[in-house]
Amino acid sequence: MSTRRKFLQSSLAGSAALLSGKELLACGETKYDVQKNNPIVISTWDFGKEANAAAWKVLSSGGRALDAVEQGVMVPEADVKNQTVGYGGLPDRDGRVTLDACIMDENYNCGSVMCLEHIKHPISVARKVMEKTPHIVLTGDGALQFALANGFKKENLLTPESEKAWRKWLKTSKYEPVMNIENQLHNKENDPMPGGPQNHDTIGMVAMDATGQLSGACTTSGMAFKMRGRVGDSPIIGAGLYVDNEIGAATATGVGEEVIRIVGSFLVVELMRQGNSPEEACKKAVERIISRSPEKSKKLQVGFLALNKKGEFGAYALQKGFSFAVKNGSEEKLYDVKHIY
Ligand code: ASP
Repeated sequence: MSTRRKFLQSSLAGSAALLSGKELLACGETKYDVQKNNPIVISTWDFGKEANAAAWKVLSSGGRALDAVEQGVMVPEADVKNQTVGYGGLPDRDGRVTLDACIMDENYNCGSVMCLEHIKHPISVARKVMEKTPHIVLTGDGALQFALANGFKKENLLTPESEKAWRKWLKTSKYEPVMNIENQLHNKENDPMPGGPQNHDTIGMVAMDATGQLSGACTTSGMAFKMRGRVGDSPIIGAGLYVDNEIGAATATGVGEEVIRIVGSFLVVELMRQGNSPEEACKKAVERIISRSPEKSKKLQVGFLALNKKGEFGAYALQKGFSFAVKNGSEEKLYDVKHIY
């Protein structure tokens, strides 16, 4: 057999193996429309759609992923109707709106604020912490002092709607994290927000710009009616958000305590490093939560969302009800996320 023929045969066999390998890998996985090497932004929940639109303005004009994620998550932060992020967020059990946020760029630079009051855009304060201080995290009064010194305006973030929900909650004062399942949370007797939003939903956003650089942002008002001073996963680098520019980026939403326990977003990125697709990595992280707290995890919601360096993305959740939004050059879509229970 000629060398050329042998080469052709072996490369054909090689591609067949590759193809079946791919098919095997894809088996059981959600098929997403991946536009390789294009800018892309993905973010948690349905409200991620509007946030993505703002991020896309930056990405589509050749801007940096870091600017895109900051601009993107500022949309729900400023949205008075969104009671789980920023302005209008549900308060802690003392009636105070305390916000958590973090941001991370392609060079492991990161910044975070925890338990920040009176500032509408904690994500921008987190970015300033990253860029203007030698530190990564500022908390509480120190974070507020830093924000004011950097020109941020002190505002009342407690809206009449959120105050009303809090006063209603005060009647029973039952602190209980509830999973995000429509119709199971709502319209129950002790639901402080009947027909209203969920009691927790963070915006986590990760993006890749036209030059292939990754960044992420995560911002939340945390669990509604939480204990004063409680901080969840969202502003903790590695838990609520992680970016490794060689591999990919991940973010989390849901009951933060469970995400912190497994350093969830870092775990997802590491699982992608080991060769898992974004969806497989998110699924394995969810399974890790189950293996750590098998009984508890049946009653809680946690979801992960991930993007790899090839522009492939995926998500997985404990429970039904998690969604995410995608925007790239070819699609603007909302996806329901696969779940274990
Ligand atoms: N992860 C957030 C927290 O625990 C809440 C959420 O995403 O639902 O504060």
